[in-house]
Amino acid sequence: MKVEFLGGVRTVTGSATLLQKDSLLWLVDCGMFQGGRAIEERNQSVPSYRPTDLSFILLTHAHLDHSGLIPKLVKEGFRGKVVCTKATFDLCEIMLKDSGHIQEIEAEWQSRKNKRSGREDTAPLYTAEDAEKSLRYFQTVGYDEILSLSDGLKIRFQDAGHILGSAIIEIWVEEGGQEKKLVFSGDLGGLGQPIIRDPFPVAEADALWLESTYGDRLHKSREETVQELLKIILEAISKQAKVVIPAFAVERTQDLIYTISQLRRKDLIPSIPVYIDSPLAISATEIFKKNPDCFDEETKGLLLGGKDPFELPEIKYTQTTEESKAINEDPRSGIIISASGMCDSGRIQHHLKHHLWRSESHIVFIGYQAEGTVGRRIVDGAKTIRLFGEEIAVRAHVHTLGGFSAHADQKGLLEWLSHFKNPNLQVFVNHGEEKVSMILSEIIHQELKFEADVPQWREKRFLFAPEQKVMPEEKIEAVGPPEERFSSLLKNLERGYKKLRRKLKMRRSKRGDHRDAEWLKDLEEVNKKLEELEERLQ
Ligand SMILES: [Zn+2]
Ligand SMILES: [Zn+2]
Repeated sequence: MKVEFLGGVRTVTGSATLLQKDSLLWLVDCGMFQGGRAIEERNQSVPSYRPTDLSFILLTHAHLDHSGLIPKLVKEGFRGKVVCTKATFDLCEIMLKDSGHIQEIEAEWQSRKNKRSGREDTAPLYTAEDAEKSLRYFQTVGYDEILSLSDGLKIRFQDAGHILGSAIIEIWVEEGGQEKKLVFSGDLGGLGQPIIRDPFPVAEADALWLESTYGDRLHKSREETVQELLKIILEAISKQAKVVIPAFAVERTQDLIYTISQLRRKDLIPSIPVYIDSPLAISATEIFKKNPDCFDEETKGLLLGGKDPFELPEIKYTQTTEESKAINEDPRSGIIISASGMCDSGRIQHHLKHHLWRSESHIVFIGYQAEGTVGRRIVDGAKTIRLFGEEIAVRAHVHTLGGFSAHADQKGLLEWLSHFKNPNLQVFVNHGEEKVSMILSEIIHQELKFEADVPQWREKRFLFAPEQKVMPEEKIEAVGPPEERFSSLLKNLERGYKKLRRKLKMRRSKRGDHRDAEWLKDLEEVNKKLEELEERLQ
């Protein structure tokens, strides 16, 4: 079977993999690229397949970096099924419409700019209406339920412990009388996070797509993280200041509500207003309440005991812009939880404008900040941030609390991976920044001895056919403008070198290939070519 890596490779956004068995073509995830103009241009790139030829899209979860291009695909003629869990469908209903709305606003803003410089209008990637239309193609599947999609093709969704409705997808493919199993980790949560169940330990697979968002890092424990948050809140209260928390509308916000409610119930913090200032987060919280079957035992227990984990007298859900503006006029201490989680859009930008320059304010990052986003610049220590055409100084206390992450850390990923029994498992490390995926891939290779590597964007391969594992190079390289091909070639070179070195080292110790004259001649030639190139550059 054939595979093409369409996104979420060497970057965290745009997750999408194209799979083909005979004439059957389908996608796993159909995510939007996010984090600056250069990478977002990929959202407009022409795919190598016709959307009308796709039979279905298997969707791991509702986050836009996995689902965000579905309306665009439907707009372009996709008429198959989008298969996902019920909670994912419920969340997509609000998130895709919201995304369509944002696309419209951004296109409008760009068009106004274009007009002033005499250029043509910019069309939105898709509209809220397109998003609405795309919903009719969704089909839901329960966790742990085997669904046959076509002759010789079965799937099953399992808990991924990342956000409500998130899933690991198992795919069984029969080809040439042999059954092979592919597994997509989707985004994988850590063990023991609140509200939803832990990731399901899958043991069988021939090929695995593994996320690597935090593949190079260890999180602090949840208890330590909650203690840190408590300290920050108390410090802010002592200075009558505010704590601003940019949070993804789905899961991180509910996780925070849950945690703050617990702190309040235990009387560890005094009664101060907690604002949930994101209409999307408010709708998402309603969806949580509608899907209690996704909850873990602890949360189910709270509900059974008559306690609503998402309600507390101090929590103020602010729907309107007026209510949102009033938050910063209130002189009292308070906690503001607002979206977007990476500060690139939404109401959080207004709160940052109000608080970044105040030395007594606290800005707390609890989720992943992708390269190129406003959030990432603040975390990386920018002295000023441009918001609404104004330079704002960063004087507030900036904190990053990894322990609230919806993604497993390196230890969690390796632990989940250690359940796989097949020594010939092929691991494709994806959904991570390039260097992070590379690090994780190397560790997997060293510690678990699985074959692991990091595919390139738009790379095509044949699976389970060792003699033609990689498709001819020119097919991979013939895409994109020259600069992109140049950087892609450089990456290929780097990757090729590392792979070659590893293989040569292994062979040298096993078979004494260093004495082989043919090998030496080949290596000398490569060396010569490199020296020549270097000379030409001087
Ligand atoms: Zn996610
Ligand atoms: Zn993701």
